[in-house]
Amino acid sequence: MSALQRVAVVGSGPSGVYTVQALLDQDPTSTLAVDVLDRLPCPYGLVRYGVAPDHEKIKSLQTNLRRVLEDPRVRFIGNVPVGEGGVAPEELRQLYHAVVYCVGAATDRRLGIPGEDLDGSCSATDFVSWYSGHPDARDGFPLTARSVVVIGVGNVAVDVARMLVRGAAELHTTDMPQTPLDALATGPVRTVHVVGRRGPSQAKFTTKELRELGTLPGVRTTAHASELARDPALGDPGELPAAARRNLAVLEGWSRPDDPAALPSGSRIDLRFFLRPVEILGTEGGAVRAVRFERTAPDGHGGVTGTGEFEDVEAQWVLRSVGYRGVPLTGLPFDAASGTVPNESGRVLRDGAPSPGEYVAGWIKRGPTGVIGTNRPCAKETVTALMADAEALAARPVAGQDPLVRLSAGGRHPVPWSGWLGIEAAEARLGSTLARTTVKIPDWDGLLRAARQSA
Ligand code: NAP
Repeated sequence: MSALQRVAVVGSGPSGVYTVQALLDQDPTSTLAVDVLDRLPCPYGLVRYGVAPDHEKIKSLQTNLRRVLEDPRVRFIGNVPVGEGGVAPEELRQLYHAVVYCVGAATDRRLGIPGEDLDGSCSATDFVSWYSGHPDARDGFPLTARSVVVIGVGNVAVDVARMLVRGAAELHTTDMPQTPLDALATGPVRTVHVVGRRGPSQAKFTTKELRELGTLPGVRTTAHASELARDPALGDPGELPAAARRNLAVLEGWSRPDDPAALPSGSRIDLRFFLRPVEILGTEGGAVRAVRFERTAPDGHGGVTGTGEFEDVEAQWVLRSVGYRGVPLTGLPFDAASGTVPNESGRVLRDGAPSPGEYVAGWIKRGPTGVIGTNRPCAKETVTALMADAEALAARPVAGQDPLVRLSAGGRHPVPWSGWLGIEAAEARLGSTLARTTVKIPDWDGLLRAARQSA
């Protein structure tokens, strides 16, 4: 039996690294060589650029991911884009016996309502990228806003709401770049309205993340008693999944009557429900001034219907936090409706049939749901399929030379693991010059310079 020798994993976020881990665990021969390709010179994907900077415990997962990437059978190759303008999937098929795409869901979903492109209407994923120091992040956020509307009630909405009201002392200990830290620490945000179109029992956030909103220094968190009461599950939560039951209990603890006089002073996170965004309203100058919502009511089937009643919530900044969306990777099939690559247990399907040597794992396989740990069984399923195909894959001829030679062609300058270690060292030095712990380098030039200096 010939052994599987070369596998590429595209993407070094949690799904990519859990895939590598599963490959190492399931490889019976120990002859496997795994190349982990990433378009960035840094590994860890959303753990580095998506997990909120103040969630240091989740961030410390990097230590586990690092252990996998430092296995002698694994080689990190950063700064190599795959797809449009980069290495084509067909080329990877010629270099590796198998390729597993773990490229995540790189963009945000849109609302499709008037006013979505006004100044001050932004996607939460762009905001997250900016405060996380992603080198492709856009800037230009309306940081003078006093009132912010966050649309959506998932964990990203909770993250951005929390980051908007965090104070200097709490941000200082994170690895955020200095510019967003200064802007957020001194920003005048007073109220963050986090708004769900359905009821509190249908919110997507997890209880741990929700509860944290009630522990922020100097911040009051409120929910509206009248809106909680609209949820049929409130009176009879027994049928709800445990997580939804816990969420309801937390929200009830923050409930207050709809009386403006009862509003707490100081910064506030206000959780709203049964309000569907219908329009973002602008000033004459084209900046956001409010969001118009239609009051909704439960339809008895888990959805909601409009009631024809409207409410405008004043805000100078809108963050659309309605989920991520996968983007097509040139050369791979794509299902636009689900934003995923068609697959069967991780085997990529081309015209309905498994494409030999091509696999997917993570959000590009199953859609942008679940917490980081969800990627572990997902990766395991894909690798089990791959290993079941191993004999046929190993028999497929691949190019004789080291794939790195081809990956370096055409003016590409791959960043090896030693280059990443150089970035880490430079970020630690930057931190010490700012009297902080490590501080992220937020631009391509800075990252590549640091990588070059040590590679
Ligand atoms: P999400 O969990 O899918 O939540 C999206 C929210 O947007 C839902 O409340 C959804 O409401 C709402 N929504 C969707 N379309 C809408 C529309 N047209 N108008 C109004 N509201 C709309 O997405 P996410 O918050 O981006 O999170 C993505 C994944 O990352 C999740 O699995 C999440 O748990 C994970 N994550 C985890 C953490 C953590 O563990 N700390 C942190 C960040 C992200 P409906 O339910 O009504 O559709």
